[in-house]
Formats: sequence, structure tokens, C-alpha cells
Amino acid sequence: MTSISVLGLGAMGAALAATLIRKGHAVTVWNRTPSRAEPLARAGARIATTPAEAVAASELSILCVVDYAAAGSVLAEARGALSGRDLVNLTNGTPREAKNLAAWAEMEGVNYLDGGIMAIPPMIGEAGALVLYSGSTALFERHKPALDALAESRHLGDDSGLAALYDLALLAGMYGLFSGFLHANALVTSGGGKAVDFLPLLLPWLKAMTGTLPDLAGKIDSGRHSDNVVSNLAMQTIALENIAKASAEQAVAPDFAEPMLRLAARRIAEGHGSDDVSGVIETVREKK
Ligand code: NDP
Repeated sequence: MTSISVLGLGAMGAALAATLIRKGHAVTVWNRTPSRAEPLARAGARIATTPAEAVAASELSILCVVDYAAAGSVLAEARGALSGRDLVNLTNGTPREAKNLAAWAEMEGVNYLDGGIMAIPPMIGEAGALVLYSGSTALFERHKPALDALAESRHLGDDSGLAALYDLALLAGMYGLFSGFLHANALVTSGGGKAVDFLPLLLPWLKAMTGTLPDLAGKIDSGRHSDNVVSNLAMQTIALENIAKASAEQAVAPDFAEPMLRLAARRIAEGHGSDDVSGVIETVREKK
């Protein structure tokens, strides 16, 4: 059993604290709006009245607030109590924000681990939840049993920015999927179809297309976008143009498809129309 303080009791922080209580840890909680701590107190948590009191109460503190600006203000309030303590920050942010906070923590003598939660609150403590971590390996190893109570815990390396980078990369993949899903349904419903009836066609199609990803990943790593091409970019870009045209015909805005069309067209203009779609990645990589 570890003593753990959870600072930030929004939807996610409350789920983290409730899970840690349920799994037998000694939990102290703090939230800017104190009323949010009450249900957790009824479940067995101790309430701290300030961030400093929360940090001082436990071996490990977990911070989970809306963004890094909020995280910074909570940590500023806890400053006097933080030195020598173990801090895990599960607030969503960018790699640079994570690295800056890690540098601040180092100056303050705080052991710092950054994390990115790949789950929604009801998944916390259940199979399928994943939290990515980066930063102090020693802290991660020390508290892995407690962190494993929340989700599968994966440490990506000592670079504090890695968890945020991989978290946002996974979300980028997710929002690409949601964009395609929404556009596909806008087209189908414009023709009188129902999204629920379309799903039995869409789901197997998307699943089949994920089968192409290992080949595309290999091409991204090797840079050999012209190897074994079965669906060249010029051909695929005609399909993208037709999606945009059909959208206009159907009174559907083409906005979801347009960025991909623009990037593919740029890649073709650079002379790579016979390459695979993987080559479009080169158009979004800033030339160093
Ligand atoms: P909520 O909007 O439910 O809660 C926000 C929390 O941040 C509250 O505790 C709020 O306190 C606190 N907060 C906001 N501003 C400040 C401030 N200036 N000072 C102190 N505390 C502040 O968000 P979630 O709990 O859902 O999200 C928390 C983190 O978890 C985010 O970084 C989010 O990206 C991440 N996350 C959330 C997921 C989700 O599905 N919910 C999924 C994966 C990650 P108060 O109650 O006083 O307003």
C-alpha cells in the first residue's frame, strides 16, 4: 500500500483517486473547488485544504488538472512542500511543456515523472486503460505497483517530453479516424442513409485498411515510398478530388478531406505521383 495524494479532482482526477482508494491505497485529495472532494472523502480519502498539505501527506503525488497553466499554479502553491518528493503529472500538454516542468522540478529538487492517460475516466482501473510515462525511471520503478492500479503503465524513456509526444500522436491518429468517420457519415446521410445502417459497411472497411499500415510504417522509416506500390498517390488523389466534388454535389462541406487533398497535390507537384501515400508525410515534415 502506498500513500498517494491526488491533486485535481475533475472527471479524470476523481476517477484516479476513487480507483486508488478502491485498490487499497491511502489517498489524500485536494481540489481548487473543495466540494468536489466530498464524494471521495465519503469513499475513504483524507481531504487536504492546500496543495502543500496534499503533497506533504504522501509518498507520491499525482497531479491531474485541466492544462499546464493550471498545473503550474497548483505547483506554485505547493512549492514549499515539494522538495525531495515524488511527483507524477498526468495533465495533458505538449512535449515542451513537459520538459519545461521537468526542468523546473529538477531545480526545485522534485523527482518528476510525466504521464499521458490513454483512457477515459470510466476505464481507469479497468482492462484496456493505458498510461504512458516518461522522465525519472527510478520514480517509475519505485511506484509502478501503485501506478499499475490505474492502468497498464508504459515507460517510454528518460526524456520527459516523450509521454506527451506519444500521447498527442495517438490522439492525432484518433482525430484522423473521427474526421473520416464524420465525413463518411455526412455523405451517407446526405443521400438519405442512416449512420447506424452504414456502420456494418464502414467498420470492416476501416479494419481492412488498417492492414496496410505495417507496409506504410516500413516505408516511413526507410523513406522508400516508391517500393512495391499497388495504389499510387496520383490515382488516390483523384479519389480525394472526387470526394471533395461529391461533397459539394451533396451539400456537404469538403473541409475534412481538403487538408489531405492539398498535401497529396503538393507531393505530386514535387514529382512523387507514382509513390505510395506514405510519401505525403514528407510534405508535413519541416525541412531542417
Ligand atoms: P475537468 O474539466 O473535468 O477538470 C478540470 C480540473 O482542473 C478540475 O479539478 C479543476 O478544478 C482543475 N483546474 C482547472 N483550472 C485550475 C486552476 N487554475 N488551478 C487549479 N485547478 C484547476 O478535466 P478532466 O479531469 O477530464 O481532465 C484533467 C486532465 O486529464 C486533462 O489534462 C485532460 O486532458 C486529461 N485527460 C482527460 C480525459 C477525459 O476523458 N476526461 C482523458 C485523458 C486525459 P475545479 O474543480 O476547481 O474547476
